[in-house]
Amino acid sequence: MTQVINPATGEPLREVPATSLAETDAAIERAAAAFETWRAVAPGDRARLLRRFAAVVDAHREELALLEVRNAGHTIGNARWEAGNVRDVLDYYAGAPERLTGHQIPVPGGLDVTFHEPLGVVGVIVPWNFPMPIAGWGFAPALAAGNTVVLKPAELTPLTALRLAELALDAGLPEGVFTVLPGQGGVVGERFVTHPAVRKVCFTGSTEVGTRIMAGCAAQVKRVTLELGGKSANLVFADADLAKAAATAPAAVFDNAGQDCCARSRILVQRPVYDGFLELLEPAVRGFRVGDPAAESAEMGPLISAGHRDRVAGYVDGAKVAFTGDRPDGAGFWYAPTVLLADSPADRHWREEIFGPVVSVLPFDDEADAIRLANDTEYGLSGSIWTRDVGRAVRVARAVESGNLSVNSHSSVRYWTPFGGMKRSGLGRELGPDALHAFTDVKNVFISTEE
Ligand code: NAD
Repeated sequence: MTQVINPATGEPLREVPATSLAETDAAIERAAAAFETWRAVAPGDRARLLRRFAAVVDAHREELALLEVRNAGHTIGNARWEAGNVRDVLDYYAGAPERLTGHQIPVPGGLDVTFHEPLGVVGVIVPWNFPMPIAGWGFAPALAAGNTVVLKPAELTPLTALRLAELALDAGLPEGVFTVLPGQGGVVGERFVTHPAVRKVCFTGSTEVGTRIMAGCAAQVKRVTLELGGKSANLVFADADLAKAAATAPAAVFDNAGQDCCARSRILVQRPVYDGFLELLEPAVRGFRVGDPAAESAEMGPLISAGHRDRVAGYVDGAKVAFTGDRPDGAGFWYAPTVLLADSPADRHWREEIFGPVVSVLPFDDEADAIRLANDTEYGLSGSIWTRDVGRAVRVARAVESGNLSVNSHSSVRYWTPFGGMKRSGLGRELGPDALHAFTDVKNVFISTEE
């Protein structure tokens, strides 16, 4: 059993059974058996079932959102968006089964056609920071392409995934098509990697665990998608709309208490506007509303655990604090939004993913310097560029080694556009049309027409 805690109060919420190795094997075998029928469901019927699943999620959106507020400490506004995102992703990929067409290729002496074949059982491993959307980004396209899914939520945040599995059955998905297995990474997750019936692993989490998963998958040439860590840059050029850049910078890193792989946790400001930017940033940070995540006004809730809060605090100890925001007193794993001034790009808080409400600021000289500093990291997930110069925006966006960049905006995620990392931030892309094909193998069939 795993005790699930409410991070806003520190109080126990519910005990969740930890799936054993034998139970994991049995669930994978049920999913493999279910694959034989699920792949044969007519595309239109599979689409209808996914649309119904989306409708059931929509009908339970508030319930799912409140569950996430209690289990993960997400603000109610964010949690509503997250449940809505699961609905949207299901609806989007419900449009796929009838459109998953191959090619007919001209070949002399016969007919040559390609098929997008589903892979089989797909194992989805989810972290604790965005339990609902990250689950949906894996299971929705996998199911649409005709695969069955076993999903392991993070130990700290299994509740919404368990509820989604119940809702899938309510919507009419056959038993064994979508199974949620709460439990330990080293038991359930590891088995997804080693069990030969699991044909693909979709992993989102730390770069450290992702590296191990990739090595394990390599042993079987198992398909793998990795969405890993980040240390994204927020580049503010002197010609930018400084007021807007400063007003939006706090949410770009403190949203979800900074526990966001896309957090713009390194702010780079061009030297002539460095002091002016900090003057504008300070009131925005001090005014960032941290508190009870169930309150409609909350912009930031607690961190996920006491241990994680201590880890975050370890990065701030001894660093140069420019200013901090507010945090409530009392129980709960609270940490105030914190702005650090980096002395150099060698500072530990500048280099490592903190995964908390801490942002580091550093000045830069010119465009080349900005690109060099932005790329001086092992990560490459997202980033923002603030400038009024269109040419510069395009040059910098092309030069920064990141999978998702936004200009004069911090938006990274839309379910119909691709999402994923470069360098050690990951491998492969989720969402959008391309993600669907990553859940299939292309098969080529030649039919001779010779008599
Ligand atoms: P984590 O790597 O510790 O755990 C992620 C998941 O992997 C959990 O479900 C865990 O139980 C499981 N796991 C742990 N060890 C395993 C093993 N040996 N085999 C198989 N599964 C195992 O990460 P976390 O602390 O839960 O999440 C935070 C990290 O996730 C951060 O680094 C963050 O940047 C990253 N993240 C990335 C994205 C993205 O899309 N790139 C999105 C969200 C989070």
